[in-house]
Amino acid sequence: MFGDLFEEDFSFISNNHCGKGKKSKPRESEPPAPRDFTNLSGIKNQGGTCYLNSLLQTLLFTPEFREALFSLGPEELGTLDDSKKPDAKVRIIPLQLQRLFAQLLLLDQQAASTTDLTESFGWSSHEEMRQHDVQELNRILFSALETSLVGTSGHDLINRLYHGIVVNQIVCKECKNVSERQEDFLDLTVAVKGVAGLEEALWNMYVEEEYFENDNLYRCGACDKLVEASKSAKLRKLPPFLTISLLRFNFDFEKCERYKETSCYTFPIQINLRPFCEQTEMDDSEYMYELFSVIIHKGGCYGGHYHVYIRDVDELGNWQLQEEEDGLIEERALRDTENAKETENPLAVLKRILSEEEAKQIPVDQLGQKLLEKKGVSWNKKYRKQYGALRKYLQNHPQIFQLSPDGSKVGLKEAHKFRLDSHGQNLQSPSQKNDVQWNCEKNPPRPRAASAGCHWFDLNDSKVQPIKEKDIEKQFQGKESAYMLFYRKAQLKRPPEARGNPRYQIPEHLLNEMNVANTELQKKRAECESANNGIDLHLHLSSCYKFHNGALHPSLSWKESVVDLTIDRRKTLGELRQAVFQMLESWEGDMVLSMAKPLPAGLHLYQVLDGDELTLDGIGLADGADIFIWNGKEVGGTKVLTGPEHEPVVLNVLRLAEHNEGGKGQHFSETQLVVSCSTSLGQLHSALAPAGGIILKNGSGADREAKNWEVFHEEDMKETVRSVGLRDGCSVLILDSHDQSFVNVASGNLTAFTYDISWLQVKNFCGEEEEEKHVKITATIDTVMSDIKMKAIRELQLEEELATESCLRPVSGNGKLLSPVPEDYTVKEAELKMGSLLGLCRGKAPTSTQLFLYFVVGSDQSCSPEMEIVVEETASVRECLNLMLEKSGLSGDNWHLRRLDWCYEAGEALSQENATLKELNVCRGDTLVITEGKLPGKGFLKIPIWWLKPSSRKKHGEKAQDQVNGITWKMEALQVSAAAAPPEPAHPGLDLCYAGRIEIAGEASLEDLKMQSVVPWHLCHGHWL
Ligand SMILES: [Zn+2]
Repeated sequence: MFGDLFEEDFSFISNNHCGKGKKSKPRESEPPAPRDFTNLSGIKNQGGTCYLNSLLQTLLFTPEFREALFSLGPEELGTLDDSKKPDAKVRIIPLQLQRLFAQLLLLDQQAASTTDLTESFGWSSHEEMRQHDVQELNRILFSALETSLVGTSGHDLINRLYHGIVVNQIVCKECKNVSERQEDFLDLTVAVKGVAGLEEALWNMYVEEEYFENDNLYRCGACDKLVEASKSAKLRKLPPFLTISLLRFNFDFEKCERYKETSCYTFPIQINLRPFCEQTEMDDSEYMYELFSVIIHKGGCYGGHYHVYIRDVDELGNWQLQEEEDGLIEERALRDTENAKETENPLAVLKRILSEEEAKQIPVDQLGQKLLEKKGVSWNKKYRKQYGALRKYLQNHPQIFQLSPDGSKVGLKEAHKFRLDSHGQNLQSPSQKNDVQWNCEKNPPRPRAASAGCHWFDLNDSKVQPIKEKDIEKQFQGKESAYMLFYRKAQLKRPPEARGNPRYQIPEHLLNEMNVANTELQKKRAECESANNGIDLHLHLSSCYKFHNGALHPSLSWKESVVDLTIDRRKTLGELRQAVFQMLESWEGDMVLSMAKPLPAGLHLYQVLDGDELTLDGIGLADGADIFIWNGKEVGGTKVLTGPEHEPVVLNVLRLAEHNEGGKGQHFSETQLVVSCSTSLGQLHSALAPAGGIILKNGSGADREAKNWEVFHEEDMKETVRSVGLRDGCSVLILDSHDQSFVNVASGNLTAFTYDISWLQVKNFCGEEEEEKHVKITATIDTVMSDIKMKAIRELQLEEELATESCLRPVSGNGKLLSPVPEDYTVKEAELKMGSLLGLCRGKAPTSTQLFLYFVVGSDQSCSPEMEIVVEETASVRECLNLMLEKSGLSGDNWHLRRLDWCYEAGEALSQENATLKELNVCRGDTLVITEGKLPGKGFLKIPIWWLKPSSRKKHGEKAQDQVNGITWKMEALQVSAAAAPPEPAHPGLDLCYAGRIEIAGEASLEDLKMQSVVPWHLCHGHWL
């Protein structure tokens, strides 16, 4: 279906099956950052080169210097391309400086590199660079340049611009002879210690006279003797560019160490040098100088950092400070106090970070990272305790932060974007920034023509920032203070065509070189940006989906139902829709694109993507977003409800396990149910629970601790699945009305639940010793008895061999060992209660087809011990009797079996000797009585006869009537029980005498019975009553 999808020329789309690897390009391949809004290039710090950078920028912003340098063509300097050729005369230093200047003027990068230039000096290691001081470097650089320009028209370049002459004079008081000595300079070094400023220092040097007098006299050559004299110095020749080095570093001879003079040392923006000059008759303008560069040293005398304040004489940079200048100062002050408060208030901190972002939305994780980078605090460390998780915090301030639909990205709501443009922060769009300005037409309009050439910038390695002229005063004193001053003659005027034109006077070949380099840079940036802006979207087509179980499920495999599309996030939704249409030639009717999200229940749809003119970025489409393509109504004929309010939730529905239900060791049967989160509990109740049943919720997830169960009450029934906090993976327990005894409904807890007693006790009855060792064995109602036995043997530390020779027997409340439990029975089948006691006894447990029976001989249990036997349930009564006889050591065939009746008396005879025990419903644990005598014939009863006789005839003879009544009572009892145990004497003084049994037909009359019973008695004893 998507087969020839991407053959069309949709250049911004590529079918991406190779995953996201392409986005993590190595950093090296990324093009250098473009210039920022000042449109001036900084210079990279290449390891301790900040002083070089400051000096180079000063030279660059000395237009007369750079133009003089540019004026030297390849015919004089050679070309860098030829530098490898053996015979070629190539002057590498000026060539490299030309190229660096061209780059600084024209190449659209934030910072240029000086590597090629320093290599041309022969500096290859950082060590070599660090050895220099900026004042020293100034001389080295000039000297190197001068040397390399010998023999060219630029041979006097340095001299022309920087060379000045000081004249020292000594005048003899006597003969007025003047002795004179000239000194050349490229820069003037002035004292700082004990001097208030530049003018005072110059005054001291070039106005004040020194006198030779008293002990310190001067030897005049003309007078040829020691004379009084005056000594003075004057500036004889002023250079167009006056460089002044401040002696901030001094040596303390007492402490024997170097120190930095940090006292206040003022210097003017404009200075009239007339008072210091030898010739003073010229026009004032000949003596006026204007400050244009201040190199600043920050730090101590053994290290530090240099940066430079430079006046942009040709107005090459973009300086936007002076608008609302006064307002700005207030704003800055406000910002500073805000900054302090801000760190305490996460809202302000996050707002500021987001407002500084170019992208409208950034990943939430990245926001945390930026917080750490910019404020040096991590969310979790500083704010989490008070404000909770970052993502949650963002969600809790929806009026300020806009989260993408999937919650992965965050941006500021429009109304909360900071207005940064007014204080010169960067809000230019990338396209504006990419446009490198070569010609003036393209330059943004100058804010104020009158202030031409007055704009100052702080050039600090890579960073270039606009500053105010007033800021210079801050550098009068302190650890960070002015170190070198550069003045230019005020008379030097710049041609109008140079204003705002960085191309001015740059030779053609360098212009071309820079053009090519810029085109290349732009191309690289576009590629890089496009790669960085590519997002992968997962497109789900409705025809590949079916709606069932509360959510959308692919009818094929997930892989076959999803098409990945890579698209530039800056493209519009309309362009995305167009691309999708193109993919699906056969699409008819409405096409709706909805945000989708795979949930545990399946794919769920969220808002419809709307606003074709908006960018994908703008509508919050993030990398990896899922988009469902459908008609907006139904999928496969089923209406689909969308939005967070209809999110499907997967619940585990638990019920108490019935017999054989549920897995081994489970108390519950468990099924999964998908419901919409808007389902009311009432609906859920009527769907799941029978009338009178209840629903309990467990929020604790998979472990489902008993204590976390909570009953939903009647009043909850109007609540929804979401509002009561039922989420994916939550469990509900359905209890029928009769299950509810497990639950303390009032407290909402499962109290007497099987969780609480899930063990059996096993006591060792195998050992000879008296000690009653017993252990607790955890078990469920489905645990098999043999497992319990094995565990018990292990826990009791008995020999494993015992396993085959032992069985478990429940112990009754009065301590009696009950019949052994078949090994293959479960706890439930054995009808054992949790927590009950079992005895581990010697002997094999009966199998499930065997019966364990107790038996006694005769009905007098006191003289016949209870014995036990295991027989097959299919054994006949006769076989069982024989086994019992054998076990009790009896012989003969004058025995039969009876059941033990309810009062432990020999009861009903098992008269069908060929029937199986099973057929006669003889059960495990029954007690049988071996009774002497043959079974009565069919239809006959065997009735024991008791004679009542007074224990003392003399005493009780007169109470014969009572005695007769007693007999009658006994006889009635006999009829009811048909038992033969000797009753306790009902009346004191009367003895019952056993007369034996008589066999009599069931139909016989009471008279017959009397007759029969009297005869044997009379015959035997010869007595009558
Ligand atoms: Zn003299």
